[in-house]
Amino acid sequence: MHTNRLTKLLITSLILGTFSQVSTAEDKESTWLHCGQVIDTEEGEVLGQHFIEVKGNTIARVSKTKPQNNSLVDLSDKTCLPGLMDMHVHLEGEMNPKSYIEGFTLNPSDLALRAQHFGMKTLMAGFTTVRNPGDTANVTIALRNAINQGYVDGPRIYSAGKSIATTGGHADPTNGTNAKLMGDPGPKQGVINSTDDAKKAVRQRYKDGADFIKITATGGVLSLAKSGQNPQFTDEEVKAVIEAAKDYGMHVAAHAHGSEGMLRAIEAGITSIEHGTYMTEEVMDAMKDNGTYYVPTIIAGKFVAEKAEIDGFFPEIVRPKARAVGPQIQNTFAKAYDEGVKIAFGTDSGVSAHGDNAKEFQYMVEAGMPPMEAIQSATVTTAELLKNDNIGAIKEGKMADIIAVEGNPVEDITILQNVSFVMKDGKIYKQ
Ligand SMILES: [Zn+2]
Repeated sequence: MHTNRLTKLLITSLILGTFSQVSTAEDKESTWLHCGQVIDTEEGEVLGQHFIEVKGNTIARVSKTKPQNNSLVDLSDKTCLPGLMDMHVHLEGEMNPKSYIEGFTLNPSDLALRAQHFGMKTLMAGFTTVRNPGDTANVTIALRNAINQGYVDGPRIYSAGKSIATTGGHADPTNGTNAKLMGDPGPKQGVINSTDDAKKAVRQRYKDGADFIKITATGGVLSLAKSGQNPQFTDEEVKAVIEAAKDYGMHVAAHAHGSEGMLRAIEAGITSIEHGTYMTEEVMDAMKDNGTYYVPTIIAGKFVAEKAEIDGFFPEIVRPKARAVGPQIQNTFAKAYDEGVKIAFGTDSGVSAHGDNAKEFQYMVEAGMPPMEAIQSATVTTAELLKNDNIGAIKEGKMADIIAVEGNPVEDITILQNVSFVMKDGKIYKQ
C-alpha cells in the first residue's frame, strides 16, 4: 500500500473514530418494538402496551400510539425490560474439577476464546452489561475492546483486569504452588505489600486499560490457602488503593467474607463489597453511612456448598471453607436487605455456570426481596454503581439495551431465567 493511501486511510479512520464499526450506530433506520408490557425500572411499575422506536443504538421514542407505516418487532405477548446487568462475573472460565490444573495448562489465548463464548451465553441470558472483577492476563480487557470495536459479539464489559491481593492472599496467583513456580509476584501481577505497591498496582491497571479496581480484602473460598475470611490489607494499603484509583476515575470493589476486612475497606471508601458473608450489624451500619453497595453472589455460595460434598471437585484445603461460607450468603443477604443496605445484583458466574445468572433473582426473592426491587437491583442500581446513566431503563435517549420475557416477572421472578428477546446497543441478538 502506498504511504499516502495509508495516511488517508488512517486519517479517515481517525475521523470516523474506528477502523471497523459494524454496530448499527451509523444505520439510522428505525426499528420499532411492540411490547405487550414494559417495566419502568425507575418508577418500579409495570406499564401496559408500548411501542419503542430504536434508532442506531439509542431509544428514540417510547410511545403508547402505534406508529404508521412501520413494521413492528412483535413482542405483544411479552414484557419488555431494560437489559439486565451483573456486577460480578468472571468470563474467562467456569469452575470444574479440572480448574486448578488448567491454571497450569491453559494460555491467555485459550482463556480469551472461552471468555468470548461465556460472554455470549451471558448476553443470550439477557445480561447486556457485566462487571468482570478480576481476570488473568487482562483477557476481559481485550474482549471488551474487541466487542466495542465490533470484531466479536458480547455484553458491554467493565473489567478490572487482574485483581489486587497481598502476598499469600486471595488472588495471589502463585498460592499453593511449589517453590519453583511460586516466584515473587509484585504490583504488576497484582500482589502488593505497601502503600507504594498499592499505587503502582492501580496505575499499572490504568495503563492496562482497566475500568475499575478489584481488591481481595479478605481470604477467599477457592484460593489454595487456609483462611477464607481473615483481613489481608492494612488500613493504609486499602486507602492507598482507593486514593490512587480515584485519581484515574476508577471505583474499587472489594471481595470480602470476614467483617474486619469489610470494615477497613468501607471506612477507606470502597464502592462495593462482594459476597459479604460474615457481615455484622456494625458492617451494615457502616455501609449505610458510606453508601457502599452490597453485591451478594448468593448463587456462588450455593454452588460451592453443593460441590464441596463431591469428593475431588475441590482441593481438600478448599472444602471446609466452601462448606462454611457457601450456605451463609443467602442469610446475610436477607439481613442486609432488611437493614436497608443498597444492593447491586451480582452472581460471581464463572464459579456457577455462565448463563444461569438470573437464578440469583430467585434466591433474592426467596430471601425476602420483592421481585420489582430485585429487577431494580440489576438495572437502575447497577447503572448508578457504574455511574452510567445511559443504561438501566427504557427511556428516550438511553442506550437500546432491551430484553423481553413471556409473562410478568414481577408475578413470577423465575420467568427471568427464560429470556426470549435480547437487544443490545440497538442490535437484536435473540428473537
Ligand atoms: Zn469473584
